[in-house]
Amino acid sequence: MRPEILFPLFAAPTDLKGVGPKVGKLVEKVAGGHVVDLLWHLPTGIIDRRYAPKVAEAEVGAIATLTVRVDQHQPGRGPRQPYRVRCSDDTGFLTLVFFHGRPDYLRRTLPEGEVRVVSGRVESFGGERQMSHPDHVGELKDLADLQTVEPVYPLTAGLSLKVMNRAVKGALERAPDLPEWQDAAFLRQNGWRPWHDCILAVHAPGDAADLEPATPDRARLAYDELLANQLALALVRRSLRRVKGRPLSGGGELRQKVRDALPFALTPSQEVALREIGADMASDMAMLRLLQGDVGAGKTVVALLAMVNAVECGAQAALMAPTEILARQHWATIEPLAREAGLAVALLTSRDKGRTRDAVLAGLADGSIHLVVGTHALFQSDVDFHDLALAVIDEQHRFGVHQRLALTGKGRAVDVLVMTATPIPRTLMLTAYGDMDVSRLLEKPAGRKPVKTVALPAERLDEVVAAVARALDGGAKVFWICPLVEESETLDLAAAEERHGHLARLFGDRAALVHGRMKARDKDAAMAAFADGDVDILVATTVVEVGVDVPAATVMVIEHAERFGLAQLHQLRGRIGRGARESTCLLMYAPPLGDTAKARLTILRETDDGFRIAEEDLRLRGAGELLGTRQSGLPDFRLADLAAHADLLQAARDDARLILDRDPDLKTPRGTALRTLLYLFERDAVVKSLRSG
Ligand code: ADP
Ligand code: MG
Repeated sequence: MRPEILFPLFAAPTDLKGVGPKVGKLVEKVAGGHVVDLLWHLPTGIIDRRYAPKVAEAEVGAIATLTVRVDQHQPGRGPRQPYRVRCSDDTGFLTLVFFHGRPDYLRRTLPEGEVRVVSGRVESFGGERQMSHPDHVGELKDLADLQTVEPVYPLTAGLSLKVMNRAVKGALERAPDLPEWQDAAFLRQNGWRPWHDCILAVHAPGDAADLEPATPDRARLAYDELLANQLALALVRRSLRRVKGRPLSGGGELRQKVRDALPFALTPSQEVALREIGADMASDMAMLRLLQGDVGAGKTVVALLAMVNAVECGAQAALMAPTEILARQHWATIEPLAREAGLAVALLTSRDKGRTRDAVLAGLADGSIHLVVGTHALFQSDVDFHDLALAVIDEQHRFGVHQRLALTGKGRAVDVLVMTATPIPRTLMLTAYGDMDVSRLLEKPAGRKPVKTVALPAERLDEVVAAVARALDGGAKVFWICPLVEESETLDLAAAEERHGHLARLFGDRAALVHGRMKARDKDAAMAAFADGDVDILVATTVVEVGVDVPAATVMVIEHAERFGLAQLHQLRGRIGRGARESTCLLMYAPPLGDTAKARLTILRETDDGFRIAEEDLRLRGAGELLGTRQSGLPDFRLADLAAHADLLQAARDDARLILDRDPDLKTPRGTALRTLLYLFERDAVVKSLRSG
């Protein structure tokens, strides 16, 4: 249960004074649905209202806080005339200007003859000072409150800074003094203050430098968040590890048959990865390993050999892919090789129904099917295994932790191997997987050639089409990628269809179209026709991103390359350059390019090193945006900035490990405080996994 001390922070924002249902919705949109989200909504700028000159000396264009006497109201004479309020001090006149001003309200806040403090931008009109719509109006007693540095928050349409500031203030008033969860010596060493002081301070920046992520107050809050993240991951991992594994170590005879059937030798990295996986499987602890390798690095074969090891021990293995197409492709790779070793491999996706599906379920249940490849369909409740010992998850960042774990519930002490093609930088890897064991496929299989990459503005479409025509004459196959994002799906689809129509007029039925809205059967047919049929140009939305293997494809055109992320472009480009022939990638963009888009295209032209590209992507976009957090399953940090706080992440990892070594069930006073930290960052689920929650 969430500690009582945190209750005020987990109320809805509408619980705060001055936040009604309408503002509440806007606050929820921009910050989140709890009061605590307002604490995490850090200012991104400041307005300095400390400048408080006499009226005559007020610099035009500056933000100033002026103390004036209200002399006279001058309502506008026509509907388009502004309402003016004449004010002055002993040095000169200041006119306050209000368009669509409400007279009764203005008379109440600015009564004639009284002294008032106004804060806003100083303007000049007809040789006199004026101020349109002051940001703040107060009485003399409010001067100290107004003459400050005001934090500026990210806003959304309909939500004003004033209202946002009030909401954050309300949230800060509720922030309790929390028991210290950080190590006292570590705090001292970093010069960090208690949590409560820090949260107040970061919302009261004194100058622009206070907005930097490296300030002690911001760093401490970032560290709190990272520690919660690392502690949670360590707890998940431990609860997985608590499950005693079973030693799986086959004799190798089936694996040898598969190896003999391969038309190539394994690369050194593949061999190393297999040794590491073999050692994990042989140990009596459950395996939890990430197999990381760039596009085309050859992960599937590694997975297959690990799966066959499980079969050698009399057990079964499953491979789960994020999409139908990818599941089919894996199946097509694995099935013939496994058949050489006399193994039965089944395919199970949500499209398999009726008798086909029943037969697969029966074979899995009685053990006559050794290996199965599939999609989410694999962890539906009516799928039972005779003896599942290894789950391989080709996640491509589409599965969350929970889905990953659901499959392991289908067997006894299931070993888990997660494959990812996205070269996640080390920093992000830690936040997503904690201290998961990692095998990396470093080199690409022999025979790969770097892809020649060219960027062209969209208006040179005719040249691109001509180049494609030449390539087709030379026997090439061409991927033509059109962007498709959810927000503008209909428009994007129309654009892809139009492009296909255009190319079909030029090249006839050698051009086919494939996109996510098509029926699975039609999609497969189009892909198959491209892989080995008469289709030579495949116009596709990004469905090809996830691993299709067509070695004869040597040209890729990507339209609106500026709309893709760097990692995504790299993934897409990895679809070509798989055969022996020279490959070309044409990145078409709609000018003018922003700086970030320009930098992205430059990096892609310069390198095809996935790790370098991922690091650059992190630098250019920040972690939150990398890979698109929502679909990536990567955590979205509110306070930590991985580009700036990478060293803190390392420290948090070590700290989490040490904490759990010393206090495995978080029972000491510090442990209790750490539980509060976990709740503060909404890691409720992992606290429940502790022995006495
Ligand atoms: P990934 O899943 O890592 O993107 P795949 O496993 O799909 O890569 O392999 C890409 C291609 O490389 C496949 O056609 C595969 O048969 C081939 N391949 C895998 N390992 C090797 C190797 N050691 N030498 C040559 N080709 C290989
Ligand atoms: Mg693959």
